[in-house]
Amino acid sequence: MRKTNQNQVVQVALKVPFAPYLDYSIPNDMKPPVIGSRVVVPLGKNKELVGLVVAFVGQSSHKNLKSILAVLDGEPLLDEACLALLKLAAKYYQVNLGEMVFTALPAWYRRTENRPIPHQYWWRVAVAMDVAAEKLKKAGKQLEVFEYIHKHGPLQSKTMSHISASAAQICRQLKDKGLVDSAEVCFLDNDSAVDPGFKLTPDQANALTKIRTEKDPFKVHLLDGVTGSGKTEIYIRLINDLLQQKKQTLVLVPEIGLTPQLFQEISQRINGQMAILHSGLSDGARARVWQHAAKGLVNVVVSTRSGIFTPFKNLGCILVDEEHDLSYKQQEGVRYSARDLAVLRGKINQIPVVLGSATPSFETLNHAISGKYQWLKLRARTNQNPMPSLTLQNTRSKTFKKGLTNPSLHAIKNHLAEGNQVLVFLNRRGWSHKLICHDCGWVAECDDCDAYLTYHKHLNLLKCHHCERRYSWPEFCPGCGSQEVETMGVGTEKIAAGLADAFTEYAVVRFDRDSVKTPAQWQKNLEVVRSGEPCVIVGTQMLSKGHDFPLLSLVVVVNVDNSFFSADFRATEYLAQLLVQVSGRAGRAKTKGEVIIQTQFPEHEFFQMLFQANYETFAQQQLAQRDAMGFPPYTHIAIIRGQHRSERVLDDFLQQLASGLQKNDDISVMGPLPAPMQKRQKLYRMQLILNSNDRRSLHQTIHQLKSLSLAQVEQKVAWFVDIDPVSFD
Ligand code: ADP
Ligand code: ZN
Ligand code: ZN
Repeated sequence: MRKTNQNQVVQVALKVPFAPYLDYSIPNDMKPPVIGSRVVVPLGKNKELVGLVVAFVGQSSHKNLKSILAVLDGEPLLDEACLALLKLAAKYYQVNLGEMVFTALPAWYRRTENRPIPHQYWWRVAVAMDVAAEKLKKAGKQLEVFEYIHKHGPLQSKTMSHISASAAQICRQLKDKGLVDSAEVCFLDNDSAVDPGFKLTPDQANALTKIRTEKDPFKVHLLDGVTGSGKTEIYIRLINDLLQQKKQTLVLVPEIGLTPQLFQEISQRINGQMAILHSGLSDGARARVWQHAAKGLVNVVVSTRSGIFTPFKNLGCILVDEEHDLSYKQQEGVRYSARDLAVLRGKINQIPVVLGSATPSFETLNHAISGKYQWLKLRARTNQNPMPSLTLQNTRSKTFKKGLTNPSLHAIKNHLAEGNQVLVFLNRRGWSHKLICHDCGWVAECDDCDAYLTYHKHLNLLKCHHCERRYSWPEFCPGCGSQEVETMGVGTEKIAAGLADAFTEYAVVRFDRDSVKTPAQWQKNLEVVRSGEPCVIVGTQMLSKGHDFPLLSLVVVVNVDNSFFSADFRATEYLAQLLVQVSGRAGRAKTKGEVIIQTQFPEHEFFQMLFQANYETFAQQQLAQRDAMGFPPYTHIAIIRGQHRSERVLDDFLQQLASGLQKNDDISVMGPLPAPMQKRQKLYRMQLILNSNDRRSLHQTIHQLKSLSLAQVEQKVAWFVDIDPVSFD
């Protein structure tokens, strides 16, 4: 047994559910670890875990402390500010510090062995295009890769997997021939930044001045700007300001697909080092970005949600693009909101936070209205293009061809003939929405979930979109034996097939989870669109975000009527955001943009509010309703969701939890209620919904409930708490 220092005890945060941290002693012959570094510690009989040192204390209340086995970091992996962020986040989301820490740490850093982080290479061209073309006359693939780097570089070889599976090897061959260079960080020439010579629009100039002259070092700015109003230009100028001051910027984007676009836009305009961070990268690559950011080797990190935890040497600002996007909320494990944590981090670091969106979330708008956030409006497009015109097309009396009405098809034809591109948007993949019996009304449902089955024609199978279980086509109706079983409704597969039939001379590209499963497929589809040829793009949610398709002049939206029947009080907020975002994709082109929405309810006041007025007016009106009804953002919600094979066990469990709560007039508890999707993958799902005017009471109640359940309620049911849920499902 090693001798240990009796006067110093280390508190180590571990990924265990029962305690925020555990106490360990330090062997006398070990150099003590520093706060914020990782150590390996024993747990139980023979487990060894990685933990993070969070504090030192003189003494422990426990006897016979075990001692640390190894110190993994000589310097803190997380600085004081990052630790403070994690501590506050753990408290806010009601999880143990260790769970929070291990949500934040990239997988690489969760391993007990301390291997060196593997190298990452970025490639850029070293010679002009014609020189390479001459040298590579006989090496077609190499030339193709060179051309791609020439056009899009600097970049990493894996972004070229759509050109060749051995892109990395080809890059090395190009390097041997002296045609490309490589570096560990994404190097950019000092003279590479191009100034587009824009004169800022008055809105842009005003917003920028307001941000620049803000006295408070921590201020949240809402950059509320319509699509094409030049929000990115403001981000770029702010990043350049910070570069001058030798400070770093964190840019958050909602999804992986958007990282390359923003990365490229920014990288062309700054003289600095940039990095991308998202879950598509290898463990090693993600650890590398952490290391480079912490050492100050990169100036800008463009990242998805989890990047909010990246340690920086000298962080100067956090930019959250498309701040309304639900992807910022993690929907498993620790259910944190990266947008909200960005604001918290800004406060801890005393730096500005910019939230950008064409359709701000009602939470954020509420803070802008109350003056807590600075509200910067950009209402004009930089190219002075008018906003697209809108047609609401009543589908009740129209005839359809594979989901599209004749007027829609006609409009598509015209836009294509003018050389433009068209987007048909609908949020349902597969061929059809349902399979029904015409004689008795039976509808095919999943045995394991509370959900209809979708027909997928290319597979000739029915699929449940919630558990991916597959079923074959029933030869006759299980309800009445009839053979009149047919599909009903449309999905992307059917729409795309119909369009391919109708417009044989144009490409039809489909973006959904069935047709785009890998970054290479995504890239391949994108190349078709970027080629500039007229084409029809069929897409789901995947395409509604900030992707820039400059030649798009018509957007047709199919089937959004379900939102009008949703039980979620936020359904119309989300629908409005979706429609405005999707519409915004049209009309960056020279031709005036046009938007067609196929709906059964063209006279619905929702459309009148949103399109005859605008998003801001719509939001104000909806906010007033929320206020009157006592819903967020005027109140605070948490849900407690459980799941179990037995509905009765689940119900009993949640009843017990609810009845264990002390009476508190500040809080209303609803439930146990079945979740909107009552059953998923054979498990029943139920929830308690807690709603309160007072955030503090709500948190106290949940805290009490967690300790209560651990002590008194039988732990038969898997359950979790979701603070500020964005969905009830
Ligand atoms: P947003 O992010 O608000 O949708 P972008 O930042 O993508 O808008 O800007 C739309 C287009 O306008 C981009 O091509 C951008 O380069 C260009 N742009 C930005 N600011 C200006 C300006 N002041 N004058 C002219 N063009 C501009
Ligand atoms: Zn039947
Ligand atoms: Zn299912």
